[in-house]
Amino acid sequence: MQQHSEPREEKPCPPKNEHFEPRRFPRPRSSWKPCPVPGCGELVQPGRLLCLGHWKGLPHPIRAKVNRLWREYRHAEKGIAQLMAARAYQSAAREAIADASARPVEGGGR
Ligand SMILES: [Zn+2]
Repeated sequence: MQQHSEPREEKPCPPKNEHFEPRRFPRPRSSWKPCPVPGCGELVQPGRLLCLGHWKGLPHPIRAKVNRLWREYRHAEKGIAQLMAARAYQSAAREAIADASARPVEGGGR
């Protein structure tokens, strides 16, 4: 039996090109939207409903509901099912925003 030494896969370093400047693309600010809670100036991450402070202040059932309905909307088939899911999500979102507006922001405030 032949004994093979463990094959070593050495990845060659990528050649450094001095003319190559890695451009940093910052996340476009346009996809960040302001928090829908009145008086809150925070920006909301893309794909999120509220700013982090307001979101964390929400009771668990509401957060779970929003998340679930959002997922249902994303996975709904195009057409009437998606429309219904969008409506359900929007009403849950409105409920969440109303709830967040009614309570003080965690670790913030005026
Ligand atoms: Zn907020």
